[in-house]
Amino acid sequence: MKIAVLAGGVGGAKFLRGLRHHLSIVHPDGEGGHTDDVSAIVNTGDDVWLTGLKVCPDLDSIMYSLAGANDEVRGWGRAGESERVSAELTAFGVGWPWFTLGDLDLGTHIARSHFLREGLRLTEATERIQSRWPSIGVRLLPVTDADVPTFVSVTDDGVETQIHFEEWWVKHRANIPTKGFVQRGVENASVTPEARAAILDADVVLIAPSNPVVSIGTTLDIPGVRDALAETTAPVVGVSPIIDGSAVRGMAAACLSTIGVGVSAEAVGLHYGARANGGILDAWLVDATDAAAVPALHGAGIRSRAVPLWMHDDEVSGVLAATALKTARELAG
Ligand code: GDP
Ligand code: CA
Repeated sequence: MKIAVLAGGVGGAKFLRGLRHHLSIVHPDGEGGHTDDVSAIVNTGDDVWLTGLKVCPDLDSIMYSLAGANDEVRGWGRAGESERVSAELTAFGVGWPWFTLGDLDLGTHIARSHFLREGLRLTEATERIQSRWPSIGVRLLPVTDADVPTFVSVTDDGVETQIHFEEWWVKHRANIPTKGFVQRGVENASVTPEARAAILDADVVLIAPSNPVVSIGTTLDIPGVRDALAETTAPVVGVSPIIDGSAVRGMAAACLSTIGVGVSAEAVGLHYGARANGGILDAWLVDATDAAAVPALHGAGIRSRAVPLWMHDDEVSGVLAATALKTARELAG
């Protein structure tokens, strides 16, 4: 089965680990000739050129997590990390002192930047980088090869300005008057041929429970992505990142409020919209605590079902991924 998953960083990673876990149970080692082919189409809006290096936080969060090389306690970066190089850079006054790049993590950014300077596209560089961990089992595809960084319109000390998304989140913790999000260069960007083909050739398209604004929203706004989602014959099933009126972790609530969308599973589902009405969803999974949202979603043409959405561990996330696939199968036939 070919599965395409639209994903941001940490929420996307947890969901992909669950999906991989589920598939490893139903088709161990491709048993019975069943091989599954999972492509993650990953947000690039958080990406930044820093100290001469291309940093791709969401691609790396997913890669480290699927490789089992992530720091589970901190929730981001590599396990067993040290920060000697960052300390040195700070002494030179280079980079962002509030944005620590670990030494092992810097290895990834140096390798990626090297490949890009050799002329590889980000998609090709990502393929080379992820081959370091053959066990990942998911093809990581940046949604675009272009630089389309997300900037945030804010008022800082009474002055209206735009700051990079990472500065808004990591430095300000979203705690600054915020007007909106801007994807610089989006008009000249396009979805990669690989990401487009992954959507068009998929048997199932899944929308991970990732930030609906700065992970999934920024991915959908890359020219060509919505067209591919409209064109594909695969059912599109999304999973709500909002449970019982709150983002489980991270800044999704602040992002939704900024764009005027309610912080609820229902509001996010309606914001994505039914594919039949120009939106992206055929079905939307909400948490069991949000069961009351189901009728309104049905009314809007989105098949909806209420199931537990907390992704505590791979097993639990695997059950969620299985439900998403089952919902897709029901839609398909
Ligand atoms: P980021 O790029 O690291 O911010 O990660 P994503 O965009 O992939 O996902 C972040 C969002 O995932 C959070 O704001 C939450 O709304 C959502 N999320 C995190 N953990 C869970 C979980 O266990 N269940 C669900 N349903 N959503 C989650
Ligand atoms: Ca992110």
